[in-house]
Amino acid sequence: MVAATLSNAPLDSARHRLRELFGFADFRGVQAQVVARVLAGQSTLAVMPTGAGKSLTYQLPATMLEGTCIVISPLIALMHDQLRAARANGIRAATLTSADTDRETTIAAFRAGELDLLYVAPERASQPHFRDLLTSAPIALFAIDEAHCVSEWGHDFRPDYRLLRPLMDALPDVPRLALTATADAHTRADILAQLGIDAAGIIIAGFDRPNISYAIRPRDGGVRQLAALMAAAPGPGIIYAPTRRKVEELAERLAATTGRSVRPYHAGLDPAVRAGNQAAFVESEDMVMVATVAFGMGIDKPDVRFVAHAGIPKSIESYYQETGRAGRDGDPAQAVLFWSAEDFVRARQRLAEVDDGRVAAERARLDALAGLVETAGCRRAVLLRHFGEAPPDECGNCDNCLEKPAVRDATELARKLLSAVYRTGQSFGFGYVQNVLTGNADERVRQRGHDALGVFGIVDSGEAPLLRPVSRALQARGTLVATQHGGLALGGNARAVLKGEETVEIVIPPASRKRRGAVANPVGDPLFDALRELRRKLAQDGGVPPYVIFHDATLREIAAARPASPAALARVPGVGAKKLEAYGAELLDAVRQYG
Ligand code: ADP
Ligand code: ZN
Repeated sequence: MVAATLSNAPLDSARHRLRELFGFADFRGVQAQVVARVLAGQSTLAVMPTGAGKSLTYQLPATMLEGTCIVISPLIALMHDQLRAARANGIRAATLTSADTDRETTIAAFRAGELDLLYVAPERASQPHFRDLLTSAPIALFAIDEAHCVSEWGHDFRPDYRLLRPLMDALPDVPRLALTATADAHTRADILAQLGIDAAGIIIAGFDRPNISYAIRPRDGGVRQLAALMAAAPGPGIIYAPTRRKVEELAERLAATTGRSVRPYHAGLDPAVRAGNQAAFVESEDMVMVATVAFGMGIDKPDVRFVAHAGIPKSIESYYQETGRAGRDGDPAQAVLFWSAEDFVRARQRLAEVDDGRVAAERARLDALAGLVETAGCRRAVLLRHFGEAPPDECGNCDNCLEKPAVRDATELARKLLSAVYRTGQSFGFGYVQNVLTGNADERVRQRGHDALGVFGIVDSGEAPLLRPVSRALQARGTLVATQHGGLALGGNARAVLKGEETVEIVIPPASRKRRGAVANPVGDPLFDALRELRRKLAQDGGVPPYVIFHDATLREIAAARPASPAALARVPGVGAKKLEAYGAELLDAVRQYG
């Protein structure tokens, strides 16, 4: 029984250590189950969404078990973030990578049993002297981060991950802990097989990220909408744009219109500039990064307050992963997607370049995405159902739950639009077809004699404003497709709609969405402001990003509790022993002065 497992003795001492080391009151979600298995020496695959607190599930046992925990991680940048955070909590950690100059010291510390965690890249696993090294001191655990990289089904296959199995098999008594945030059933099964973990050892956390508020809107003057979002969300943010050119253009225009610090990130930038932009973003408390999807996996920044998409993502999976980079610290965060019909049209055109074997799957991906974009129901429910969960019908924290959009039966208007496209020869763009339907006989229309068609002028001025939303919806669904020259043509279920066999409903977003602040921080509290200022100074002195010192949530708790003694300060969640020792005096000073 779960309750019995959760109250066992090793877990109680783990909870004690959790408070002492990290200052957290208790485990979150499935953390306790994962930690209990690790402490019991059982191999495990933990599927936990971003922000669920995966790293703690091996960092904590690593400080309790005999020997060193070997952590396999795919990116050096990711390792260094982890290292910094672990050390800030007083955990003895080191990395062993080609970029390190202190390798001899690290190896000596490992041999002397002085390391809780040793981070290595997967390619090291095949090196004979690394295997020898592992037999020279006790190993507590193999932790395999981003474990989906081992699977060809996963979205980031890394052949080097296949080298891990022989390495681990050579030490059969050491338990394995594989961790990933995204894995469909297929990939999960493959990870288990590739890493030699029993199927009973899988623990899957729910995919819900309740602190992320989702909103999806038609794009309408992209820069203006993004600037408005930035004005409402003062913290760090990421804006995903589809192309390098778009990244540069948006970064420039947003910097100019908002006055905020905005930087670009894409694979075409000079590596030094790119690394510099990333480092500046990680340290910053208000920077906005405009980026292609190349920006992501290596970024372990918990205080990202919003993720915006300036165009549609590739799939619901990518959308979930990209938006998941917001609000890992658990504070309120926003995910806003701005889409247009052209996004879908272009994506459907690209299907022509896909191998025959994959077309059906890729089309299904796009249809699922169109379903998310076009739903009048809860966005979160659509997302979670996509991942196989059975969520409640309403979440109360997405645009559609907060303000119900209108749903209209637009079948008649859709039929008029489709037949006008058909009658004019399936080669004209939306503007032209609109002219025909609304009876606007301009020069081009007259020249072609289209003012004599039966569809000429059949849409009155009351219905005309709905033509664009209807066209948008039909394009998203593939009922209308683009010709080579950018004209509209019938596709998908167009004939069924024309014959009256299928209906078309469209969702009309409310004219003005209520603006909701995404930040729960107190405004105008002098103590909170002073604590943030102090954190900035401590971060600068220590050469680390502010969130490594304390999260906003911890500063809020301190400002609310106004602790007067080290003992009272230690009771604030997020204040562990190491941080109490390092920053306690200055924090208490600030409370005395401003509290
Ligand atoms: P993941 O790797 O799963 O995305 P992290 O390990 O980066 O998540 O953890 C996300 C954030 O949650 C971190 O800032 C971490 O300090 C915090 N966290 C983890 N576990 C707990 C807990 N039990 N209580 C409170 N905060 C936690
Ligand atoms: Zn909802």
